[in-house]
Amino acid sequence: MMNNNIFFATIHKNGCWMCGGELTSREHKYKQTEARWLYPQKDKGQPYKNNERAFYFSFDTGEADPIPGPKSDLFKYPSLICQACNNARSQAMDMAYDKFSVWCRNNPDALCIDLINVCGIDYIKEIQYFYAYILKVLGCEILSSGAPLPESFPNPLSFTFDSSHVFISICKAADISIIHPNLTKEMTRCLLGKGRLFTNISESDLAQLGIKSIIDFVWYRQIGNFQINIWYNIAPNPLLGIHFNGSSNIYNILDPGLDFYDIDYAMCSSIYKTTYIEWLQQKVGDGHGFPFYKLGKRIFSGTDDLDKNPEIAAHLYKIAAERGYVRAQYDLAWMHINGIGVEQNYDEAMKWCKEAIEVWHYPAAHYLIGFMYENGLGVTKDYDEALRRYQIAASSGFSPAQFSLGCMHLNAIGVEKNIMKALHLFELSASQGHPNAQNNLACMYASGKAGIQDYEKARYWWELSANQGHNSAQQNLQLLERIN
Ligand SMILES: [Zn+2]
Repeated sequence: MMNNNIFFATIHKNGCWMCGGELTSREHKYKQTEARWLYPQKDKGQPYKNNERAFYFSFDTGEADPIPGPKSDLFKYPSLICQACNNARSQAMDMAYDKFSVWCRNNPDALCIDLINVCGIDYIKEIQYFYAYILKVLGCEILSSGAPLPESFPNPLSFTFDSSHVFISICKAADISIIHPNLTKEMTRCLLGKGRLFTNISESDLAQLGIKSIIDFVWYRQIGNFQINIWYNIAPNPLLGIHFNGSSNIYNILDPGLDFYDIDYAMCSSIYKTTYIEWLQQKVGDGHGFPFYKLGKRIFSGTDDLDKNPEIAAHLYKIAAERGYVRAQYDLAWMHINGIGVEQNYDEAMKWCKEAIEVWHYPAAHYLIGFMYENGLGVTKDYDEALRRYQIAASSGFSPAQFSLGCMHLNAIGVEKNIMKALHLFELSASQGHPNAQNNLACMYASGKAGIQDYEKARYWWELSANQGHNSAQQNLQLLERIN
């Protein structure tokens, strides 16, 4: 690769952008090995089953289209490079990236990567190849978007850190379940993704020459639970990790704890130079419900310097709900049950719950219906129906339903008293952070109600609950301090 320095130092404007050769090859958006990973059955020599096909999900439209197989054209860019650049010349890059990608897929929960383990003792060179691979894909991404490559864009065939304007960081990827109810948390770890290219282009070039000259840009790729962030001519956002340049063999991977939408903002805020709220306000023009919901959430809780206002929040939730955003449908139903921000209206609550279930198969909505049946709100009180609904929501991991189901078992409501079952359900709910479940669990451990008296466990759960502002937990904790 180093021998090619002289020839390949700049970007070619005609033919293969890496070497000027013939346009004979299509770069993969994702590596073949990664694409095959999405089709586990195929590797075992079995034909695909319909429901095991990978699908292409568009965050813009919310549509999911099945991809017939790992060799599908959907995995490839148009022909922008030559055979030699896509094969022999880039083999070392492909292999370096592959090592990293395999690691990401095999270690979904890791927060630290030891580059010696992953790439061997010569890891700095391997990371250089890794950058070159990213640049190769990135060059194809930019060209396929219709913009020319920037003048100073480094040629992957002669990439070195010193000459580059490129900065890469790696962080934990956001879980994608917030975008769409059909996407589960578990699906994040078997996801290949690429973000949109956020750029600033030269206004004068566009006006005078009609060319979209890129000044700076950000881009990201996702491999399962990890996100590779790429910054060009722009200071990276430290929220999304430190420079991945091999300065040490140990690289700590930051988990920014942001949702999918907010990671987009963290990436592009320096390009667009807007505040978060301004950015959300721009987003509402996209036609999706999600930004209305995000704005509503902030207005409901009065964060980001916004005045707390449940009525405006409900109004925004309604817009999002009507645009099919299921979390807004849920929140709106909850507000109608409780008469917060809107008039209490159980029929309206039931209507949104049913839409969330029938259209979106949203299990949490069963919880609200269960709540209405347990308490006879707008319907005749029916414990069997309440139990049935809670069970559906609880088995999907919805912590409020696990808590309510636990209470029914603890207090023998509609079922026989079953303390061990209640304990188990409270544990499930508490470990997901439900403050009432944490308090109940602590009470059970403190009283020895479930046959085990354990003050340490009681303290542990009360502390967690109290930290969330739970009143009884705070009082119980003080009591515990006094008797010990
Ligand atoms: Zn070439």
